[in-house]
Amino acid sequence: MADVALIAGGTRGIGLACAEALAGRDRGLVLVYRSDSAAAAASNERLAGRCAAVRTVRCDVADPAQVEEAFRAADELGTLEVLVTAAGVLDEAPALLLPLERFDALLATNLRGPFLCCREALRRMIPARRGSIVNVSSLSALSPRTGQAAYAASKGGVLSLTRALAREVARFSIRVNAVAPGFVDTGMTRSLPPEKRRGLEALVPLGRFARPEEVAAAVAFLAGPGANYVTGETLVVAGGLP
Ligand code: NAP
Repeated sequence: MADVALIAGGTRGIGLACAEALAGRDRGLVLVYRSDSAAAAASNERLAGRCAAVRTVRCDVADPAQVEEAFRAADELGTLEVLVTAAGVLDEAPALLLPLERFDALLATNLRGPFLCCREALRRMIPARRGSIVNVSSLSALSPRTGQAAYAASKGGVLSLTRALAREVARFSIRVNAVAPGFVDTGMTRSLPPEKRRGLEALVPLGRFARPEEVAAAVAFLAGPGANYVTGETLVVAGGLP
């Protein structure tokens, strides 16, 4: 049986780039998405032939039963070796104007989702005494912009979750790390008006948004043997943006 990497949010943007970076002939991939089945089919086609097997699974990461189902798809391919939690949404508004339903929906995907996925992964990794988890947080966790109280709180929660789990499972030789990307060129940022985007790019010392594969390279490093002695850490991938 092959080793398996499950990538939540693996059908678009940063998650898809992570799937491409982690693809290998001896590794199966499970890509979890919420609703965009066209993107899921395209990502499946893109990765088939570059890995042992690929499955796309429709699953809301905030729903425990659906998460369990997604991990069962991983069990069918082999032994879970890597989890990347890249499923996430952005919703910005001043705190006083953000309806509680939107706060709850954001936290459900961005924090409850990684918690449920990490738990389900650890149920498999602990008995195997190996595995590596990389959570995709955000620079907003460390340095929020205006309107990001809920988003920053969700991503800060992901960093704390990462550190707490890292301590909890280190004795089983399982590592848990996070990346904190700055601005990345994905569907999440593509709707920015051009003048707003130019303004944000001007804030970045490297002068541009990251390409998804530049974040994926950091994720693959943390997931892989080059980071065997790294756990509980956050790697900022933000082009020098403070
Ligand atoms: P993206 O291009 O919008 O892709 C998001 C992916 O997550 C899609 O595959 C989407 O599925 C999936 N997803 C969303 N909600 C989900 C849910 N409840 N259950 C399962 N899957 C769900 O976003 P991205 O820019 O790659 O962002 C990936 C992660 O990086 C997010 O956590 C984001 O907060 C973080 N991040 C992004 C940036 C940035 O500038 N882009 C910066 C810092 C951090 P569907 O296709 O079905 O919708």
